[in-house]
Amino acid sequence: MNAPNKAGWRPAMGDAEVTASPTASGDKALMLEEPLIFELGRPGTCGVDIDEADLPPMDALASFLRAAPPALPGLTEPEAVRHYTRLSRQNYAIDLGPFPLGSCTMKHNPRLNEKVARLPGFADVHPLAPQQTVRGALEVINQLAFWLIELTGMHGVAMSPKAGAHGELCGLLCIKAAIAARGEDRHVILVPESAHGTNPATAAFAGFSVESIPATADGRVDLAALKAKLGPQVAGVMITNPNTCGLFERDMKAISDAVHAAGGYVYCDGANFNAVVGKVRPGDLGIDAMHINLHKTFSTPHGGGGPGSGPVVLSAALSPFGPLPFTARRADGSVVLIEEEDAEAEHPQSFGRMAAFHGQMGMFTRALAYILSHGADGLKQVAEDAVLNANYVLRSLEDVLDAPFGGAGPCMHEALFSDAGLAEGFSTIDIAKGLIDEGFHPMTVYFPLVVHGAMLVEPTETESKAGLDRFIGSLRHVAQRARAGDDSLHGAPHFAPRRRLDETLAARKPVLVWKEQAGE
Ligand SMILES: *Cc1c(COP(=O)(O)O)cnc(C)c1O
Repeated sequence: MNAPNKAGWRPAMGDAEVTASPTASGDKALMLEEPLIFELGRPGTCGVDIDEADLPPMDALASFLRAAPPALPGLTEPEAVRHYTRLSRQNYAIDLGPFPLGSCTMKHNPRLNEKVARLPGFADVHPLAPQQTVRGALEVINQLAFWLIELTGMHGVAMSPKAGAHGELCGLLCIKAAIAARGEDRHVILVPESAHGTNPATAAFAGFSVESIPATADGRVDLAALKAKLGPQVAGVMITNPNTCGLFERDMKAISDAVHAAGGYVYCDGANFNAVVGKVRPGDLGIDAMHINLHKTFSTPHGGGGPGSGPVVLSAALSPFGPLPFTARRADGSVVLIEEEDAEAEHPQSFGRMAAFHGQMGMFTRALAYILSHGADGLKQVAEDAVLNANYVLRSLEDVLDAPFGGAGPCMHEALFSDAGLAEGFSTIDIAKGLIDEGFHPMTVYFPLVVHGAMLVEPTETESKAGLDRFIGSLRHVAQRARAGDDSLHGAPHFAPRRRLDETLAARKPVLVWKEQAGE
């Protein structure tokens, strides 16, 4: 399969199609095949002229010199540029079509945000610049902090965490510091079965032991089971709301009250805040700490390892322990940024820092641009449209795909399906690969774990009805093929640059060094 042909290119289309291919290159018009960079390169070739080193002999350092030249592929500049440009054209991107990944919240990023983020006063700001020279950038952080505190009804916010998972760690370190300040020894964090994988990982990383709470038949936290686990050893709970089944945890206030009565704190995974922003204030639900994924809720783009930002809002009970720099609400409603130098006087119980500097400036400018261009009423509509779109997907497909909680009422921002009802031998992976042939990025698959063969679709508020109809039409078609036992679906994708890959092998045994260069 995919052996390089004479020209050194590797045709990837289905074998039958390759033999029928009339081209010598293996390319098909704008479908350009791309070899590995090491197949393309020639050792010794270089894009620039580099002078011979003009250094005195360094006997003392001789043992550090390379014995053999580095295993670089060797390309001219145009070859290198074209290689990466061709690869980029094989990539699916949010600017090409919808990215229906549940939980990930991949939405259109307005171009206005990009324009604002590129203003030199923000884009070129140096993290070590004296503070009096970057007042404008600090004001952006402060205004964003004010909005986050307002929208969540909380007391303070740590802006520095760099992603959702980093925010979780920040919140749990606050809880740890608060418990230590009370002189107590509480080491258990309760996490529901349906939690995002980062939750138990963060709790363990922060030194807590994790105990699981079961879900009810309607996909929500089992309140009675949670209450039964509370006690003097419990530091707190971590609850995702809306949860990863796309459902609102209706018992949130009762959960918070029970946890507080038992002396614990409530952490909320707020990655899905886009479903409730402007509608619900987490502070009113008794939440003590919650991270907000700016890159999911306020549109700053992510994916492919792009930057994130995970500010953590804190209740009055946890705010004193927040990391520096910290933004706190004053009695008059204004917010104030507390820096390290003010810490002794204004924030003496802080647990320390989460990061050098103030956080992800580029994400802050994009998020504030999104917030200001929507306004308070527009943000409310963001949540309404995200939920409306998800329910449109849910109701349009539940006759061909099993919707395990479809009978429990409307979903929030994401629609959850399972592989029940597909023909014998067909499963979620076939649907996902079939969608690639249809020209769509697949949805989130096999997550949440509480549902067998889960398919989690999050359309977000930025898809139009026409766009959703196209997506629904494709998913419906693929689902019908899987129900009818259409064998060709097992071979999907047929039309992508590569066929069905062994993803487990790729993850477990990645080939990171080109064999010839490694001397094998
Ligand atoms: C995305 C997500 C996270 C993790 O956020 P990162 O920014 O990727 O670290 C945590 N919980 C939920 C529910 C999420 O969707």
